[in-house]
Amino acid sequence: MAIKAIKNSLQPATDKSGVIQNYIGGSWVSASSTKELPVTNPATGEILARVPLSNHTDVGKAVEAAEKAFPAWRETPVLERVRILFRLKALLEEKADDLAVSLTQEHGKTCSESRGEIQRGIENVEHACGMPALLMGDTLEDIAPGVDCETIRQPIGVFAAITPYNFPIMIPLWFWPYAIATGNTFVLKPSEQDPLTHQQIVVLIEEAGLPHGVLNVVHGNQEAVTALLEHPELKGVSFVGSSRVAKIIYAKAAAEGKRVQALGGAKNHMIVLPDADYDQVAQVVNASIFGCAGQRCLAGSVVVGVEDAFEPVREKVVQMASALRIGNGLEENVDMGPVISAPHRDRVRTYINQGVDDGATLLLDGREARVAAYPKGNWVGPTVFTDVKPEMGIGREEIFGPVATFTHAKSLDDAVELMHRNRYGNATSIFTTSGRTAREFRYRAGISMIGVNIAVAAPLAFFPFGGSRGSFYGDLKAQGRDAIEFYTDKRVVISRW
Ligand code: NAD
Repeated sequence: MAIKAIKNSLQPATDKSGVIQNYIGGSWVSASSTKELPVTNPATGEILARVPLSNHTDVGKAVEAAEKAFPAWRETPVLERVRILFRLKALLEEKADDLAVSLTQEHGKTCSESRGEIQRGIENVEHACGMPALLMGDTLEDIAPGVDCETIRQPIGVFAAITPYNFPIMIPLWFWPYAIATGNTFVLKPSEQDPLTHQQIVVLIEEAGLPHGVLNVVHGNQEAVTALLEHPELKGVSFVGSSRVAKIIYAKAAAEGKRVQALGGAKNHMIVLPDADYDQVAQVVNASIFGCAGQRCLAGSVVVGVEDAFEPVREKVVQMASALRIGNGLEENVDMGPVISAPHRDRVRTYINQGVDDGATLLLDGREARVAAYPKGNWVGPTVFTDVKPEMGIGREEIFGPVATFTHAKSLDDAVELMHRNRYGNATSIFTTSGRTAREFRYRAGISMIGVNIAVAAPLAFFPFGGSRGSFYGDLKAQGRDAIEFYTDKRVVISRW
């Protein structure tokens, strides 16, 4: 089928040689570094643009622009600050379809998945629009005769976020709308793998009237991140990405005396009890594992069937997964797009090879998947393993691809114990018709995001998003009230008149 809308009205800001630009102090500027990487459409192999790998000088300029903008922005009344976000929300809604096409082109997810991601991002902008109420402090009269005590929340200065490739619109919007609504200024370092669509969001926030320097964007990878972490004027940093890097960022930022929240990888266990509705479970678990080609930190990649629940759910998932249509996410009737890059495709294939070598049984093999019209796409078909042991690589590590692993447990206790042997703790779900069992599970799971008969336990914007154990380093999570805590300092004023 022909691509319906390969072009949209949004084009990335590039210099004459097709390299995208940083956004610093309200201007699009070329990075001083000459190092760059291609940004490729993962379905077609087409090079969409090139991204610069900014260096210390570029990052220094971005932080300085944010620092310079801070005093005036801090003094801008919160009502005026959020009016800009209200305008951004309207613009995002107006442009959502174009943004979705652009996102699918650089990431590979289907257009409806892109539209869903953009909606989740908009919901964070909406929540940040409520900042006048969210910022309020507390007051207690007469803590001693004639003495009153109050807390006020004040912004801190320049914050940054370093974000991953899998949700390149939603995840930046977990951070900067809250940071700027609370009166801070910001530097974003997006993923170098798909930085293009967010460039358009910068154009929209500028159109909404954001003063220069309040939001800045620097492109790059490790060197840019190191420069950010070492910058003395950066007060705090949010990271989302793999646990390996999250741990490094957490340690370095904390050592530099900065506020830090670092969200890492995942291996989410879906525990199915024998009293569950197997048809419903299979449907939602299938969507959880294979949505976004498995490149989701909430993907329910380990299905633990307790007693008799094991076989029927597994058989249904194999059946549904076999019917998934892979292809270019811009086309209709495509259920699953490619993975982000050829090296990542090879990494996923290596995990599948390893699973076979370790003795797991491969029920559905996606290694040889091809899409005839797109020979250069990074295809991995839906893959299902059974007889997976927690100590195997595929049972232990985050694959971040369309690979389901099935494990059998004798009881709920056995299933929870198996889950706790894994180092990650991002999300988990239980499927049961017993309220008592669900309550018991919620009490003992020890995992931050818990689904009950829900396979993607994704908190909405007004709830905290983030994991525990090896999936999270820090204390305050993204979104919700935690975001207001993270971006403000509580000052206590005690007065006698
Ligand atoms: P990644 O860790 O490779 O990269 C994330 C960011 O860190 C990018 O901006 C990248 O440029 C930068 N980076 C990479 N290596 C670095 C280094 N050595 N030093 C400093 N910065 C570095 O992650 P990714 O492949 O882009 O994203 C996928 C990962 O993100 C998965 O593990 C997924 O589970 C995780 N993720 C977690 C959540 C969550 O809420 N916990 C949400 C989305 C994605």
